[in-house]
Amino acid sequence: MFKETIFSKIIRREIYADIIYQDNLVTAFRDIAPKTPTHVLIVPNILIPTINDVQITHEQELGRMIIVAAKVAKKEGIAEDGYRLIINCNDHGGQEIYHIHMHLIGGQRLGPIF
Ligand code: AMP
Repeated sequence: MFKETIFSKIIRREIYADIIYQDNLVTAFRDIAPKTPTHVLIVPNILIPTINDVQITHEQELGRMIIVAAKVAKKEGIAEDGYRLIINCNDHGGQEIYHIHMHLIGGQRLGPIF
């Protein structure tokens, strides 16, 4: 059994977050400390701690995360200019919250990572 994080409470709406989209598989909410003008987190409703824990049975959730990212980007008005999707994994990847989340960042030109 995986240990729940604050994101499970946000998904169940037990603690506040600015949720901008939710369906049966995923939830999208604004990052509490935005690094860019648009910074949204897209998470599966079920707890999967890291990308290393992904199973074939999670295909629907993972696919929906991308579909919702594109939908949110369009709604935020950043689809045409472009944006970046990031999933951090474990310590070296910079992961702080152990419930998979996709960062959707944009609203400005992003510098190269490499
Ligand atoms: P990561 O480093 O990839 O695990 O990213 C965790 C992200 O979660 C950071 O960008 C935090 O600012 C964000 N975060 C942490 N707590 C909350 C919260 N209560 N509501 C919204 N975003 C949060």
